[in-house]
Amino acid sequence: MIEKPDSVTNVTSLLSGDGVSRHICEDLKSFIVTTMPIPWELAKQRIGGTPEKIVFVDSMEQERVEQQLEELPEFECVVAIGGGQAIDLGKYFSWKRQARLITIPTVISVDAFVTSAAAIRINRKVEYIGNSTPNPLVIDYDLIRTAPNDLNIAGVGDLLSIHTAIYDWTLAAKNGQNQNQFHQNTADQAYKILNSIIDRAEDIRNLTNQGIDAIINGYMDVNRICLPLGHYRIEEGSEHYFFYELEERTGRAYVHGHIIGLGIYIMSHLQKNKHEMITDVMDRMGLKYQPKNMGIKLQTLIESLENLRKYVCEREDLWYTVIDKETITHEWIDYITNKLEF
Ligand SMILES: [Zn+2]
Repeated sequence: MIEKPDSVTNVTSLLSGDGVSRHICEDLKSFIVTTMPIPWELAKQRIGGTPEKIVFVDSMEQERVEQQLEELPEFECVVAIGGGQAIDLGKYFSWKRQARLITIPTVISVDAFVTSAAAIRINRKVEYIGNSTPNPLVIDYDLIRTAPNDLNIAGVGDLLSIHTAIYDWTLAAKNGQNQNQFHQNTADQAYKILNSIIDRAEDIRNLTNQGIDAIINGYMDVNRICLPLGHYRIEEGSEHYFFYELEERTGRAYVHGHIIGLGIYIMSHLQKNKHEMITDVMDRMGLKYQPKNMGIKLQTLIESLENLRKYVCEREDLWYTVIDKETITHEWIDYITNKLEF
């Protein structure tokens, strides 16, 4: 099925269906591929054609990426196949060379395939650079289902975060903290996205075509709201800030949707914001948000929560959230960590 979503989704065209990536490169005049070994193994027989070059992601440090860019031959089209980094590398090359971009995600754990900028590391810090849009974005359900279920399901993290993020945005407005002017209409639109994801909980757990569509459409709908607004406040709040602290503390990488799930669990409770309901949704979807799934130790989580208020106060780029409003006490930390599995 080919669709032409409106331009603000940052997807010029969308091609979705079982097996739609088959032979997709056969008629391309010249193309390069950005990928990683596992997705390339899965996709190379399907896509047809012969790439001028296959670039495997080994680092997203700008120096390395620029070096790979210099070594590229002439080409008309970049075909990015894989997860976030392979897609981001393709976006970067397409932007730098002003070439057509085709993206074929093989896992939907992160939303790199609908965002315009590429996440590139400059001195190990992630920066979002460039501007590119896929034509088409290829959603081949069979290919996506070859990735581990847990990773695909993790894709809901940045959509379920609407639940806690909108609460924070509302709270900020109520407390006169209008870094981003609150609009009820925008909040209502965001809740619609959240509800359509919740309605598909079983499909997401089972990664049916409808479940995969729900995640992809959710991401595109978030872009429809956020790109004109110029910020992602509808899906980023205290649940993300919790993760920033923990990431900085441990220096570890987490599956984004899993750690955001833990953030939603904790912050929805601090917010007294339908904690049982959203937890039930995450459980029904099979989202792996428990600390034991991520190897997070009890003591680490306690220390992280103890430091969270101080952390957000020191970071001037962060918006006002429940973390600024509610005092996180030792008793509450005891209570919340007792409910979690380590
Ligand atoms: Zn996120």
